[in-house]
Amino acid sequence: MDRLWTDFVNSDYHDWRGGDRSEDRLGNASWQQDFLNRWQLEAPIPASIEEESALRSFRDDLQSLAIRLSNGKSFTEKDQAWLNDFMQAGEVIRRFISKEQGWEVTLVPVQAHWVQVMAEVAANFAITLVEGEGKRMRSCDNPDCRWIFYDDTRSRTQKYCDDKMCGNLMKVRRFRAKRKMHSNEEKNEV
Ligand SMILES: [Zn+2]
Repeated sequence: MDRLWTDFVNSDYHDWRGGDRSEDRLGNASWQQDFLNRWQLEAPIPASIEEESALRSFRDDLQSLAIRLSNGKSFTEKDQAWLNDFMQAGEVIRRFISKEQGWEVTLVPVQAHWVQVMAEVAANFAITLVEGEGKRMRSCDNPDCRWIFYDDTRSRTQKYCDDKMCGNLMKVRRFRAKRKMHSNEEKNEV
């Protein structure tokens, strides 16, 4: 299941079938709108050139951090300070609100801004580390895909973003490679 931070990082989309449909969706206004809607966040659309470039550099750094942690590297004080900086920039206030199910004390963003969105993404990443573990962060094993996800399986063995899609595709590729190898062997024997 997508988390706020994986959804954000995966705006850097790669065509898992190995085609040429890979695209960086971050600068795309309709991606921005859908992303904000999915997570009930608010910010001006489209993001300005400066905002887009800030978002992109934050995303790329977050992506490399996730990959580093997935490879068993440890979370450093520098990473901690980096995440704290982003979280600090998005201030929240406490509010007592009524909901359909009753009352709730909740944290409400002070501004409807991309800085706030990055703070939420950073916090969601930090919560993943608090409640889970960095090693469960994964990049899909299909080299064409590289979709970032969090392995929620009990066995901790999820290799692909989706077994039906990337998992099957890689199975077919392995099968074909093997068959090709065998047919080459047969040719050599002749
Ligand atoms: Zn994949």
